[in-house]
Amino acid sequence: SIAAFFAGISEVNPLPAHYYCRECGVFEAADTELAGIDLPEKKCALCGCKMGRDGFNIPFETFMGFKGDKIPDIDLNFSGEYQDKIHRFIEDFFGSENVFRAGTIVTVQGQAVRKDFIEKYSEKTGKKIKEAEKERLARGCSGVKRSTGQHAGGLMLLPEGKEIYDFTPIQHPPKNEKIITTHFEFGTLHDTLIKVDALGHDVPTSLKRICSALNIRVEDIPLDDPDTMKLFSGVKVIGVDPKNYNPPVGTLGIPEYGTKFTRDMLAATKPSTFSELVYIMGLSHGTDVWKNNAEELIKSKTAVLKEVISVRDDIMNYLIGKGLAKDMAFNITEMVRKGKGLARGQEEDMRKHKVPEWYIDSCRKIGYMFPKAHAVAYAIMSFRIAYIKVHRPEYFYADYFNRELKGFDHGFLSYGIKEANTAKKHLEAAGMRLEKKEKDRLKVLEVLCEMKERGFGFLDVDLYLSDPFLFRVENGSIRPPLSIVPDLGESLAAAFGKEREKSKFSSLEDMIKRTRANKNVVEFIRKNNIAKGIPESDQTALF
Ligand SMILES: [Zn+2]
Ligand SMILES: [Zn+2]
Repeated sequence: SIAAFFAGISEVNPLPAHYYCRECGVFEAADTELAGIDLPEKKCALCGCKMGRDGFNIPFETFMGFKGDKIPDIDLNFSGEYQDKIHRFIEDFFGSENVFRAGTIVTVQGQAVRKDFIEKYSEKTGKKIKEAEKERLARGCSGVKRSTGQHAGGLMLLPEGKEIYDFTPIQHPPKNEKIITTHFEFGTLHDTLIKVDALGHDVPTSLKRICSALNIRVEDIPLDDPDTMKLFSGVKVIGVDPKNYNPPVGTLGIPEYGTKFTRDMLAATKPSTFSELVYIMGLSHGTDVWKNNAEELIKSKTAVLKEVISVRDDIMNYLIGKGLAKDMAFNITEMVRKGKGLARGQEEDMRKHKVPEWYIDSCRKIGYMFPKAHAVAYAIMSFRIAYIKVHRPEYFYADYFNRELKGFDHGFLSYGIKEANTAKKHLEAAGMRLEKKEKDRLKVLEVLCEMKERGFGFLDVDLYLSDPFLFRVENGSIRPPLSIVPDLGESLAAAFGKEREKSKFSSLEDMIKRTRANKNVVEFIRKNNIAKGIPESDQTALF
């Protein structure tokens, strides 16, 4: 909503594409369905300044309906480190007696019913249950409540003059005395209470870290950088060999654009405008929007990326543009985004207004659709990370390893490009049989190979120079953190960080005494020369 934009709550400007002048306040609407950032540059007619370009064309009606009768979805992404703070702010702002965490209900499903209930029952009672009866019971019990939990970031707001018991019982989540959740799930309260989603997200944390290391402001990373745009359709811009990448697009490690699924989508569509990056977010976050749908339309050249249906809001924009009545366009959008297909009258009306058959057909197939505002927010965050990947690669890779620390192995540090490739191919060969841990390693190795190909490397882990927890950039190279030493967990890394501030360790003995590090860790530190030149004990230091 434009109010949230002007209040500085959201960076997403929902107006149609436009130019504006910061100096003299000129505002100029542009006639395009693209995002403002894709408009050509222009000088202000009044003062000659370079004009700003903005606007993502998000109709307010998809937020609250034409008559203000739709319950809005409010989603805000915050750095995970900041999420608690923002939750407390919302509680203070509305009064803690009016804010409740959204509860969730966990149900039992097929296999779990068999394993945890039917088989246990048969074990305990000694009763033999026939396979067909097991199947009948499993089906009958599926969907029964098993336990309750809390939503990742949802807060339910109570309207004035009501009490929570008018809507739902409340409770504590398991093993938590402080937090109060609604007993009923948000899904069943959807039309009565407003929910604010204040979600924790990695990318704001990444951007904050990168920007403070580079001493820039996040808003200063331009969203119209042509080289960054090229990363989404090829690898040339980062100077690596396309033969080594399948598909050959440069978005490995870019949040939301880095998975094989999305990279294949990029390879098939070759986006060259910011608007198209937004469509890609819609296509990749919907259900039956890309697969069995837009993918085929694009492959068969029936439609191009900017024409296929990718986000909710554009159905409405498109249909109104075709001349359908506003409430008709709105109702069709609501049906389609929820996967309910089209009513007969709606189809007829679309045909009457010359909406092509493939478009109607596509509407019918859609299972779930992403809202445009969310797609824009993701595209903006990811584009900024992509900018860093193109222009300040060492900061991108350091941050990537911080995000994917669980897949990083101390052994990777000594890999040259050949060893990294061998390790990667070895895991790839195992394919679907990989365990979660190996999949995490493979993900990191893919990005590591690319980093090596671009000529970046690691410095040694160093007892005094390494950050306790984070990969950091040092003179164009990457200094790994203490925490990648095997067995050296988070609390020990913190202890090292704290103790070394007080004074240098005089010996390994002194280190053990002060940090309570176990033998394995100390042995590893000694063997890998992480504490350069440190004596075994204070005794030997005397001689
Ligand atoms: Zn001006
Ligand atoms: Zn001026």
